Amino acid sequence: MTRCCFDCDYFQIDDKEPSEITEADRDDGCAEGECHFRPPALGTESASGRLLGEFPKVFAIDWCGQFKPRNK
Ligand code: SF4
Repeated sequence: MTRCCFDCDYFQIDDKEPSEITEADRDDGCAEGECHFRPPALGTESASGRLLGEFPKVFAIDWCGQFKPRNK
């Protein structure tokens, strides 16, 4: 297994549970998603002026030292 966000348990795309992510998602062009290793951090201001929490955006080919292989 290659260390990459796509194969990490903390990677999320399209509100899918990690166990629902398949190779077909990679083939469908899901090149980016969110890292859910940590809680959301304050992001940009919404149209209503509220600050909303956001998870960091990552590319499928990224990785970091917290990589944890996803159970398939
Ligand atoms: S940034 Fe690290 S912890 Fe987050 S999804 Fe990628 S490898 Fe996993």
